[in-house]
Amino acid sequence: MVSEVGFGGIPIQRLNEDRAVEVVRRCLELGKRFCRACDYCQPCPQEIPISMVMRLRGFARRFPTERLFGEWGQSMIAKAETCADCGECEPRCPYELPIRDMMKENIGWYHGQMGL
Ligand code: SF4
Ligand code: SF4
Repeated sequence: MVSEVGFGGIPIQRLNEDRAVEVVRRCLELGKRFCRACDYCQPCPQEIPISMVMRLRGFARRFPTERLFGEWGQSMIAKAETCADCGECEPRCPYELPIRDMMKENIGWYHGQMGL
């Protein structure tokens, strides 16, 4: 990261080439199919913390493994598995995410990581 002083003395952060390449790579990887955690999809009649379940794989990069795969993560997955497939959440998502499919993918991923 290269810094310089801009208008009014406010520091400007310019990306060096490596960082810029990394930003583009991550943008391409994410695409548009990711949860923004706005929670407009709520309320869920099953009280599933939809945005948490949707961001599960992102948490895996930041959370301690014992938390993600411990009681906290397991209780979230157990809750997600009570999804009644009613579809009420999906029309509320401003990003038109296929919430049910994405939750199922993340539940499957979670069980896979647990070796189940
Ligand atoms: S489809 Fe599942 S997650 Fe969405 S509102 Fe219904 S029960 Fe909740
Ligand atoms: S409305 Fe869509 S983007 Fe917002 S939290 Fe729900 S699933 Fe994520």
